[in-house]
Amino acid sequence: MKTLVVPFFIPHLGCPHRCVFCDQEKIAGARPILPSPHEITARIHEYRGSAPGRSVEVAFFGGTFTALPRADQERLLAPLQPLIAGGEVVKVRVSTRPDAVSADDASFLKRMGVRLVELGVQSMDDEVLELSGRGHQASHVEEAFRHLKKAGIAVGAQLMPGLPGDTEARSLASLERVLKLEPACLRIYPALVLEGTELARRYREGGYAPLSLPAAVTVGKQMLRAALKHGVPVLRIGLHPSIELAAPGVVLAGPEHPALGQLLESELYYDAARVLAAEIPRGSRVVLSCHPRRISDLIGQRRRNLARLKEEFGIEVAAVQPREGLGRTVVALAWGGGERSVDLLEL
Ligand code: SF4
Repeated sequence: MKTLVVPFFIPHLGCPHRCVFCDQEKIAGARPILPSPHEITARIHEYRGSAPGRSVEVAFFGGTFTALPRADQERLLAPLQPLIAGGEVVKVRVSTRPDAVSADDASFLKRMGVRLVELGVQSMDDEVLELSGRGHQASHVEEAFRHLKKAGIAVGAQLMPGLPGDTEARSLASLERVLKLEPACLRIYPALVLEGTELARRYREGGYAPLSLPAAVTVGKQMLRAALKHGVPVLRIGLHPSIELAAPGVVLAGPEHPALGQLLESELYYDAARVLAAEIPRGSRVVLSCHPRRISDLIGQRRRNLARLKEEFGIEVAAVQPREGLGRTVVALAWGGGERSVDLLEL
């Protein structure tokens, strides 16, 4: 049974940094309003009540957890201790900045039962980090990984292709550098221009251009493929289409898509299908197969991949069949002349 995640959003209020993509006007200067111990336990009990029998993970999303005063961190984690001891909460995760994790922070988190820390890495290119006002360097990421892993805590990384100064090659190099650190998971959020940010000002003045959606798809799918090759799960691609983001005027520009991850996965399957389609005569009728869980990725949103195969290679897809025996990244194509298959991780 899948673990039930009980989320707590720790506001970015009071952050002293100046990342160009973040809405500083709203966050500067104020003190975070954190959930009280009572609110934390009440929410966990409420979630457990709605899904009896499921293991519970508590996740503190957003914010810079380890930059909070230690007393606040303790206040958030203390109510979880009896639940962890009693096996009611099986995992605790927090997110933070790479330069806000010392060896002492890591051992404190470990003592308090935190099992995963997600780092807002964004890029491993110092020029991109500098141009994005991040206030830390790639070496801080490596240091944070070292401290956390030494303490026995798994580390996740969030990457943001398309920041100022970034290029496709830099995004891919950033990912490769992060993969060498053996992250437990990744999130990929192509940079968006949000109203009220420094990025919005630069965008309006012509000093910054975000990735187009096709460019984000091109770089994103290569990142996704590299992560899959290393066996690192990608938990999310593209910002969650929250009510806040959907409000008119919030996102000024950038590769916004309600299901970017799905789109990228489907592109990877299309790449595999087109390698196979290129090898057979135009006008062939074919049957495509893949693992049952990947059927919709192979077909594509609104059957787009099948239409593209016809348009690009003149082949007619008679059926798309699920086949248990195929690996999750394998696509097979059968036609009058036999069957061929390809693993999209090998493209
Ligand atoms: S994104 Fe940057 S500026 Fe915004 S809260 Fe995080 S560290 Fe602070």
